[in-house]
Amino acid sequence: MKITNKLAKGKTFSFEVFPPKEGNPLEPLLETLNQLYRFKPDFISCTYGAGGSNAGRNFEICKAVMKSGHDIVSHFTCIGGSRAEIVETIDRYAAAGIENVLALRGDLPEGWEGTRGDFAHADELLAFLREKYPSLCLGAGACPEKHIEAESFDSDIQYLKSKQDKGAEFIMTQLCHDADAFAVYLERIRKANITLPVIVGIMPVLLRDATIRMAVTNGCSVPRQLAEVIGKYYNASPEDFKKAGKEFTVKQIKRFIDTGVEGIHIYSLNKHEDITDILLAAGYKTA
Ligand code: FAD
Repeated sequence: MKITNKLAKGKTFSFEVFPPKEGNPLEPLLETLNQLYRFKPDFISCTYGAGGSNAGRNFEICKAVMKSGHDIVSHFTCIGGSRAEIVETIDRYAAAGIENVLALRGDLPEGWEGTRGDFAHADELLAFLREKYPSLCLGAGACPEKHIEAESFDSDIQYLKSKQDKGAEFIMTQLCHDADAFAVYLERIRKANITLPVIVGIMPVLLRDATIRMAVTNGCSVPRQLAEVIGKYYNASPEDFKKAGKEFTVKQIKRFIDTGVEGIHIYSLNKHEDITDILLAAGYKTA
C-alpha cells in the first residue's frame, strides 16, 4: 500500500532497518523484523547505501518485508547514478511491487565534491522519478535543524519546498533529539507552504559514543536533557548509560507525538530487545 494512503487514515508508526553487509546472513535481521512486527507497524523502511553499495541487500530486505505481508518504503540515492542506471533499478523495484521510494541524494563518500551521477540533488531525482513513474509514492528527506551543508536554514527549507513541488508526497526527517527545535521547524515549513505530511525519525539513545558521533556528524543539537544523560553517565557502565538513554528516548517519543507530527518512525538500529523496552514504556502495545 502507498504510504500516503496510510497517512490519510491517521498518524503512522514505523521502523527503519538497514541491510546487513554483503557476506553476513540476513536471518538475524529477519528475526528482528519478526519481533518488531508485533507492534503492528504501518510500514518498514530500508536504507540504501550511497552509490548503491549494498543495493542487492536492500532489494532482498524489501522483498522479505513484503513477503511477510508488511508495507515497505525503500530509500534510494542518486549518488553515482546515471539516468539509465536509476531506471534499471527502479524498474526492478516497481516490478517487484515496491510502491514507496524515499528519494535522496545520499551522503557523499569521503573526498567527493558532488554525486558523480546525473543528478546533483534530491529534487532533480524526484522530478525525474515523478515523470517516469507517475504511480510511485515518493518521499523526500529533510533535516529539522538544517542540513549540515546548507548555506542557510531558509535555503534548505526552500529546497524542501522544491521537493514538494517536484513530486514528493511525504517527508521523512533525519534524526533530531530536540523536540522543541522540531516543533519550531514544523511551524517554519508550514509557513513556507510545505503542506506534506511529516514523519519524524527518532534515534534511540543506546550507546554513548555513537550518540555523540551521530549528533555531531549530522549537525544535530544535544538538548539539555540529553546532555545531562551523557554527562551523568559518561564514565558509567554501558548498561547504565543505555538505561538512562532509553528513559530519555521514551520521553522524547511522547514529546514528538505532542508536536502533532503525522508519523513516528523509529530507527531500529536492527535491534529488537532495546526497541521493545522503549516502545512498551512509551505506551505502545504488541499484538
Ligand atoms: P538534498 O536535498 O540534495 O540536499 C543536500 C544539500 O544540498 C542540502 O544542504 C540542501 O540544502 C542542498 N540542496 C538541496 N537541493 C538543492 C539544489 N537544487 N541546489 C543546490 N543545493 C541544494 N543516505 C544514504 O546514503 N542512504 C540512506 O538510506 C539514507 N536514508 C536517509 C533517510 C532519511 C529520512 C534522511 C533525512 C536522510 C537519509 N540519508 C541517507 C542521508 C541523506 O542522503 C543525506 O542527509 C544527504 O546528505 C542529503 O540528502 P538529501 O536527499 O536531503 O539531499
